[in-house]
Amino acid sequence: MECNFQSLSEIGFMQSFWETDQLSIIDFSIVGGGILGLFTAYELSLKYPKARIAIFERDLFAAGATSRNAGFACFGSVTEIAADRKQWGDSKTLEIVNKRWKGIQRIQSLLGDKINYENYGGYELFIDKPILQQDLDEINSYLNPVFQEIVFKQQPEKIKEFGFSANTQSLVFNPFEGQIHSGKLILALHELLRAKNVHFFANSEVTSYEDGSPIEFIINNKHKVQTEKLIFCTNAFPPINQLQIKPARGQVLITKPIPNLKLRGCFHFQEGYYYFRNVDNRILFGGGRHLDIHGETDTRFLLNELIQKDLIEKLNTIIAPSHMPDIEQQWSGIMAFTDNKLPMIKYIGKHVIYAMNCNGMGISLSPITAQEITELL
Ligand SMILES: Cc1cc2nc3c(=O)[nH]c(=O)nc-3n(C[C@H](O)[C@H](O)[C@H](O)COP(=O)(O)OP(=O)(O)OC[C@H]3O[C@@H](n4cnc5c(N)ncnc54)[C@H](O)[C@@H]3O)c2cc1C
Repeated sequence: MECNFQSLSEIGFMQSFWETDQLSIIDFSIVGGGILGLFTAYELSLKYPKARIAIFERDLFAAGATSRNAGFACFGSVTEIAADRKQWGDSKTLEIVNKRWKGIQRIQSLLGDKINYENYGGYELFIDKPILQQDLDEINSYLNPVFQEIVFKQQPEKIKEFGFSANTQSLVFNPFEGQIHSGKLILALHELLRAKNVHFFANSEVTSYEDGSPIEFIINNKHKVQTEKLIFCTNAFPPINQLQIKPARGQVLITKPIPNLKLRGCFHFQEGYYYFRNVDNRILFGGGRHLDIHGETDTRFLLNELIQKDLIEKLNTIIAPSHMPDIEQQWSGIMAFTDNKLPMIKYIGKHVIYAMNCNGMGISLSPITAQEITELL
């Protein structure tokens, strides 16, 4: 397989005895310090309490999607689940919704008090046409094996209460979704891992590797490391091209604090193409990738003017027409997709794994994907 990195023989760096000694005793090396890499290290530390586990992150801490996302702990809106059923079929979709729901519960029980977990629930706005009650009944009975109670309910009275545009046709609520502080999530996981003696090497980019027993890999084109197992949790930055992972940049903005903001919760509209939530008294709003799919298939953290303008326009006309809030910050983050949009855990060498959650719901899925990776090791 063609590797994206420089070959090991091209690297000339004189390492000391001490460095070599300490860098040749790692059992599990995880590349990527996003939520998936962190949870994978945690699961491995539970399964192998005596193993030496290290995470190598090329940035200060996670710098792809985990530190730049919207912080929804979600499992899919009515229209997203309908779209997934069409693409993957009923049983695969249910399996993934079930994993997301289990992942949400795992995050809540393990870290809830440290990451501002708020149980406000999730909502979907229907702007152009109302949702039919019979469609909600059908999806509720489809989801019953996972939740064992009614998931989606109409809440028309909240349209006015939350201050949405009077043109909003329906508002559907589910009580199972929550929201988190993504920065605190990363630091809380770091704290958990420190207690398990997992090493976190920041500013450490894996620039090449060679499969074998042990595997050898190079950090920052300088330091040689030896390890028994190498696990890439690098999402939109795969180590080999053949995996055909597509980067998917997402645009986000956050407003300044809004006096008397009433809305609380995680909100979706247009099949999840747009999503927003409150962060205390601010509104965080993201999405709109469908407006420039080609331009947003990119790994650079750039702002897309067309999409950012569209977000501001929708913020002022649909979400908060009576507030017209000022914008405090705008940014982008990088997701990853496979062709069928399904998660992937794959051996790409005898002792080398690449894993990714896929799509925009990696928060809820990561704890479970991490368990699945650990089962393979
Ligand atoms: C704008 C946006 C909004 C989102 N909103 C939500 C949401 O509300 N809810 C939700 O569930 N999901 C959301 N997501 C998706 C979610 O954030 C991701 O699915 C999840 O964070 C992926 O985690 P990860 O650990 O797999 O990847 P990442 O967080 O991307 O981590 C991969 C890490 O690998 C590192 N890396 C890459 N190459 C190397 C290398 N060679 N050596 C060392 N390190 C390397 C990168 O620096 C990065 O830190 C959103 C994503 C974006 C972009």
